[in-house]
Amino acid sequence: MSGPVLVFVEHAGGEADRVSLESLAFARGLAAALGGATVEALLVGGGSTALASSLAAHGVATVHVVDDARIEGAYAPGAWGAALAGLATARGAAVVLAPGSDRGAEVLAHAAARLGMPLAANVLSVTPGDSWHLTRQRWAGSLLEDATLDAPIRLMSVAPHAVAVDERAGAPAAAVAPFAPQVSEADLVVRVSGHEAPAAGAISLGDAKVVVGGGRGVGSAAAFSELEELAGLLGGAIGVSRAVTSNGWRPHAEQVGQTGLRIAPDLYIACGISGAIQHIVGCKAAKRILAINTDAESPIVSVADYAVIGDLHAVVPAISAEIRRRAAG
Ligand SMILES: Cc1cc2nc3c(=O)[nH]c(=O)nc-3n(C[C@H](O)[C@H](O)[C@H](O)COP(=O)(O)OP(=O)(O)OC[C@H]3O[C@@H](n4cnc5c(N)ncnc54)[C@H](O)[C@@H]3O)c2cc1C
Repeated sequence: MSGPVLVFVEHAGGEADRVSLESLAFARGLAAALGGATVEALLVGGGSTALASSLAAHGVATVHVVDDARIEGAYAPGAWGAALAGLATARGAAVVLAPGSDRGAEVLAHAAARLGMPLAANVLSVTPGDSWHLTRQRWAGSLLEDATLDAPIRLMSVAPHAVAVDERAGAPAAAVAPFAPQVSEADLVVRVSGHEAPAAGAISLGDAKVVVGGGRGVGSAAAFSELEELAGLLGGAIGVSRAVTSNGWRPHAEQVGQTGLRIAPDLYIACGISGAIQHIVGCKAAKRILAINTDAESPIVSVADYAVIGDLHAVVPAISAEIRRRAAG
């Protein structure tokens, strides 16, 4: 085994994110299976001593830090991918990993294209050998695939929660090395130009105990006021189907499903949502699902714990009125 296992690490507020730490644990296991390869990390910005030493506890020997004002403050997938590809080449990496997050997958895809290498996404486990055998998640985790990966540089994104975070005390400090990638103006064409902070006091969809979900059956952007009222009374958040975001009724940040957020509230109230598999993978971790739908044959009804067959424009305001009545009494 010659080159290191290189891991792209996402971070915010001076801390690596959880899926990146899981990816480092995955890297540590893989490096051991490869006979003691080293684990190295790429950070774009954020080369603080505290962050670098926190990565040492996760098995990282060297932290490469991109210090380039053009890209470190603003996410630019092409430029970040160029940096990862450039570092993989410079270090002679045998393996390049990224967290199986939206950003990790996007950066790794750019790096793979630049390196001209295949990429295996959402990997759960890998067994190196003459040919590398791996198991990966497909269809948002609804099926597992056994695959082989053969390439001079093996690129893999690590499925969230594939392995537990492995933090060990007493690790020697990681070396911190600046890395200056070659980034062209073309690499910077797509980049984040601003951030929108959630309204103060808003309950985040990912953390909400109750999510009131709205689908095409809600009928319009304005009609979401009925769902907002119910969510407000229950201390919950709004989640939506892709039909809703495609119609421009609500922002993509609220989309639940395969190409949206995976949620795990205590209660998911699915209003006017048919229950397509791509939606269900995003809400199946809910402890209870209540479906409100005019169609008793809708797939959501068969996966729900409770169902009200009726017009949501009558049912939702009636629930809100009952909650208010009981609260007053
Ligand atoms: C690759 C891929 C990724 C995708 N990712 C996602 C994803 O992340 N999230 C997602 O949601 N979808 C996703 N989709 C789309 C998905 O396949 C469905 O098209 C979508 O979920 C349908 O949204 P819906 O249930 O709101 O609409 P519909 O399927 O049109 O269902 C509307 C429902 O509302 C009911 N209804 C109508 N009027 C009323 C009323 N007045 N009161 C009560 N009920 C009423 C109807 O009976 C029906 O069940 C993806 C698709 C693909 C191909």
